[in-house]
Amino acid sequence: MHQIIVLNCGSSSIKFAIMDADSGEASLTGVAENLGNSDARIKYKTGQQSEVMPLPEYAEHKLALASIQALISEQNSAPLAVGHRVVHGGETFTQSVLIDDEVKHALKATFHMAPLHNPAALQGIESAQEAFPDLPHVAVFDTAFFQTMPKHAYLYALPKALYEEHGIRRYGFHGSSHYFVSHEAARYLGKPIEQCNLITAHLGNGCSIAAIRQGQAVDTSLGFTPLEGLVMGTRCGDICPSLPGVLSELLGYNTKRISEMLNRESGLLGISGLSNDCRTLEEAAESGNEDAALALHIFCYRLAKYIGSYMVVTGPLDAIVFTGGIGENSSWIRETVIGMLEHLGHKVDPEKNLAARFGKAGNIAATALPIWVIPTNEEWVIARDALNISKQSN
Ligand code: ADP
Repeated sequence: MHQIIVLNCGSSSIKFAIMDADSGEASLTGVAENLGNSDARIKYKTGQQSEVMPLPEYAEHKLALASIQALISEQNSAPLAVGHRVVHGGETFTQSVLIDDEVKHALKATFHMAPLHNPAALQGIESAQEAFPDLPHVAVFDTAFFQTMPKHAYLYALPKALYEEHGIRRYGFHGSSHYFVSHEAARYLGKPIEQCNLITAHLGNGCSIAAIRQGQAVDTSLGFTPLEGLVMGTRCGDICPSLPGVLSELLGYNTKRISEMLNRESGLLGISGLSNDCRTLEEAAESGNEDAALALHIFCYRLAKYIGSYMVVTGPLDAIVFTGGIGENSSWIRETVIGMLEHLGHKVDPEKNLAARFGKAGNIAATALPIWVIPTNEEWVIARDALNISKQSN
């Protein structure tokens, strides 16, 4: 057993787990939430038992991590390293790295690319280094998996100086999830990953799709930020690039208001006017709510279009993979999306589709091309990288 602490630090929350890097099993999971607010607290789970531990009012990352450290030391575990999820690695980080002063300095240079996420990640890393001073700390980047994309896939058709001087290009996110499910798919297919052409769809609150050719990511739907591409819970995905300017002139919206609208008020929530939650929308649509049905239809239509276009990119496909909360559980979404691809020779087997839910993997295809449902485990990717890199550094 190789136990690793996995941390995901946001601006007001820290998700944490102790995970066995060999099995992917977590013995402790939790979240410190509402940091910086009067009701800061830690919720955690060991086995079936859930607990809530209040933190001092307005507790920040440092205090929260000291409490997480105390919790972990109560568990009788002997962690070997700390793995940190970092959202944006820019072009500097093409793989996971052992964190030292140089890495922290390079991380600061990416702040403009993910102003909400990366400063919080660095704050978390520094607090965790104080809480666990004797352990190696490793950063695992959401963008790293997509650093194999070719230039023709990652460049926007904008003046090239914007890329050369400011790094404005498509980066992609959810890399650990696409990495995990693509390797799992290769295992199920009984082929080396280097011989697999795959389309992987990560459908959670955030959604993205990746084209993987011979085991390497060659395209993905999220761009400079996690807003481009598919319809998501509250994010719009692809829109006409002129719209922010139009909204500003028509409604007097400033940049902050526009960003708020595109990130938090759009997607499934925006179209349905009801919810960003796929389950709620499926129930509402079944009871005759037309806006809920329309939101789900647009979600599926956009996804089917992306799958079709990525078939051009991957070459002869070995499998399509669904993952994330929606991809792993919504048989309705999967059947509807694949139904839109029926003229291309793809079809879902209704029984197999219903069986692949709630953490169960399965090939749901009725036709020759496998369509896999694979539960993702991003924390396991982080734990394995943290273990391997900390071993190499010894
Ligand atoms: P996050 O991106 O925050 O990690 P998840 O991967 O947990 O999110 O996905 C959340 C989404 O999964 C929500 O839209 C939720 O409605 C959907 N979901 C979870 N279970 C089901 C289910 N049984 N049927 C349909 N959708 C589901």
